[in-house]
Amino acid sequence: MWGLLTYIAAGNNVNNAGTSLNAELIWFCMSKLRADFRGISLFEESPTQRKSSQLRSFSVSNNRELQELLDAMHSVVLYMDRWGVIKHGNQKAIEHWSPLDGIEGKSFLEIAVHWDDPSERQREIMQVIRTGTPAWGVREREVNLGVERWFQVDKVPTAEDDGRITGVLLLMTDITENVVRERALRESESRYRAFIANSADAIWRYDVCPPVDTRLPPEEQAELIIKRAILVECNERLARLFDASHINDLLGLPIHRNGSLSTKKDILVFVQGGYRLEDREFTRINRHGERNCLQSSATGIIENGFLTRAWGTTRDITDQKRYIDRMEYLATHDSLTTLPNRTLLYRRIDEALVNRKEKQKMALMLIDLDRFKEINDTLGHAAGDKVLKLLGPRLEAELGDTPGTVARLGGDEFAIFLPNIRNTQQAAVLGHRFLDCICQIFEVEGYRTEISASIGISLCPDQACDVSTMMKYADVAMYQAKTTMKGVAIYDSSFDPHSPKRLELMGALGIAIREGQLLLHFQPKINLKNHQIYGFEALVRWNHPEMGFVPPTDFVPIAERSNLIYPLTLWVLENSIKQCAKWRSMGMDISVAMNLSARNVTDDRLITDLAKLLQEYRLPGEYLEMEITESTLMSDPNRALIQLRRINALGVVLAIDDFGTGYSSLAYLKRLPVQSLKIDRSFIFNMLCDEQDEIIVNSTVNLAHNLGLSVVAEGVECMETYDRLEKLSCDSAQGYYIARPMSENEICDWLESSSWEIPKLDMPN
Ligand code: C2E
Ligand code: CA
Ligand code: CA
Repeated sequence: MWGLLTYIAAGNNVNNAGTSLNAELIWFCMSKLRADFRGISLFEESPTQRKSSQLRSFSVSNNRELQELLDAMHSVVLYMDRWGVIKHGNQKAIEHWSPLDGIEGKSFLEIAVHWDDPSERQREIMQVIRTGTPAWGVREREVNLGVERWFQVDKVPTAEDDGRITGVLLLMTDITENVVRERALRESESRYRAFIANSADAIWRYDVCPPVDTRLPPEEQAELIIKRAILVECNERLARLFDASHINDLLGLPIHRNGSLSTKKDILVFVQGGYRLEDREFTRINRHGERNCLQSSATGIIENGFLTRAWGTTRDITDQKRYIDRMEYLATHDSLTTLPNRTLLYRRIDEALVNRKEKQKMALMLIDLDRFKEINDTLGHAAGDKVLKLLGPRLEAELGDTPGTVARLGGDEFAIFLPNIRNTQQAAVLGHRFLDCICQIFEVEGYRTEISASIGISLCPDQACDVSTMMKYADVAMYQAKTTMKGVAIYDSSFDPHSPKRLELMGALGIAIREGQLLLHFQPKINLKNHQIYGFEALVRWNHPEMGFVPPTDFVPIAERSNLIYPLTLWVLENSIKQCAKWRSMGMDISVAMNLSARNVTDDRLITDLAKLLQEYRLPGEYLEMEITESTLMSDPNRALIQLRRINALGVVLAIDDFGTGYSSLAYLKRLPVQSLKIDRSFIFNMLCDEQDEIIVNSTVNLAHNLGLSVVAEGVECMETYDRLEKLSCDSAQGYYIARPMSENEICDWLESSSWEIPKLDMPN
């Protein structure tokens, strides 16, 4: 009995479920059979006899218990006589071969039609009978209707007491499930191997020997891990990443040598992150001395509270990083000048604000170039770009060791952020230094050119403590610097806040000049001696496509505060000269007067352009008049004097506009090359009812005449005024009484219908 038990248990040990069930079953049977021990004594076998493992004579037909026992077994049991003829099969065997009617009396060859190589199987059976040597655990396969089943087959000979072989017992245990599982395991194992080998990432495993107690303080754990973690598995990729010629050069190395998580800090992060690490970046210098950026992820395996090993991947992100860095650079730098752009400037300001110490002072400077558009317009965009490119290094050189960021905000706008200044004075001094360095001559494409700028400064924390307010205040200050022509201004709350309308108009005006939205209206001037028209004053008009008519009093002052005033004046100049030349060519003996702004008078370009245009339109200078207000002259009298002389030298007539509203003395005017005075219309309006005004007008006329100047009265709205002026010996009159400012075409019509006339030129036939 023991022999059978041992045998069955041993023979079935592949199938765990089967083994335990068989064992249980046999124990159960044994307890039942104890009474009739001899009944199955034919199975008796001593362990020492196990070597031959022959069973003694086998007959179950008349032993019910044994029959039951065999039928309850999970395995197929067949007993054959010494001719290989099946004598008995248990229930499983009958079920298995049910399609065949009965298996008794047949050979294995006959029933094993779906077996692989049945004759070979039969031969093996016969060999066991012949030699009396059992065959254990042979794997045999049956394929029936495409369904594969695997058996582990034991073939044990039975013998009589005298050793004569009587037959063979076949015990066939279905191990299909195991085989399938094994196969899947093998496949997944090879898949896993292939996956690891072909992975673009380095894959590795560190074993921690002995494992580290996860209840220890993290610092201590990290230290122990560094000491104990040994690389036990990795792929080629890791070897390549760490400059090893073979995996074996790395295996067995502790983590701190060539490890993917080499520093204690990395490992501490791993421990503190619940034994996980995600995309941790670190750098490593490779054998060529290049800096590689690597990225590791890892998972630790915890068993019974101990970290036993860690799996992880490492990838080389050097290229990716380089690409990202490049993208980041492009997104934060100005492509033309390579200076930081607005994004980076704001980021730096934000960072500085966040980390600002209590007493730390900061300054933000906004720089707007004053004549930049003209450089673009006259020298071309390439030259303009060159100037912008030269400016960055200049400003940075001026900055020197002072910590700060020079940025280009776009167009001709720059900014300098100084995160650490001593005081307001230092900011102002630096502002002036920057301005000076901007004003140095630029040599571009063979030309020497100058630009100026306006710089606005805002201060932190005195004035603002956030980026947008600092920007806004610096902008207000910059505007202030521009309008007052001071060059540099520090924000002051008393400055005019930015008027959005003003800004909008400024943008639109630039377009208006370029795109021909401007036009000239002309207002006649009458010679009070002969009552003929001797000239027109050109007055600029702006017909905005959406805003409609914009009066010159709205946009001329804006132009005067920006660098638009020159292009505007140039446009008026050219069109006045053109119109005058045209009228004269039509036989009208007239002159045209135009208005100059303060900044035009000090602008050197004016003389050059004036001379060029007079020549281009073949207009003698004497037919062009330029009106300049008193205040214009007073802002820089010496410079103005030089300029007026140059203008006058071209034959152009000069007139003082709005006379009486300023504080210039006639004695000063005497020194100027001026030919006429225009008494301001405010005196003329009231002269009929206000005696004082009449006295002023009268004495101005007399004094002017004494100085050899002619006098024009503007704002003549009625005949009475006109007549009175005539009586006062005023030379000329201009005003609504005669006509409002008109377009060229309107003048044509007006001349036809009105009594005012223009003297005719002697035209050569
Ligand atoms: P302004 O040089 O004193 O020009 C005369 C202004 O008086 C004109 O106004 C004209 O329309 C107005 N006016 C003429 N006769 C009469 C009258 O009898 N009664 C009244 N109430 N007004 C009269 P406008 O055209 O609106 O020009 C205003 C100012 O705009 C000009 O004053 C001048 O300072 C400036 N401006 C106009 N065109 C130009 C220009 O091309 N360049 C510059 N720099 N300034 C210009
Ligand atoms: Ca005028
Ligand atoms: Ca005037």
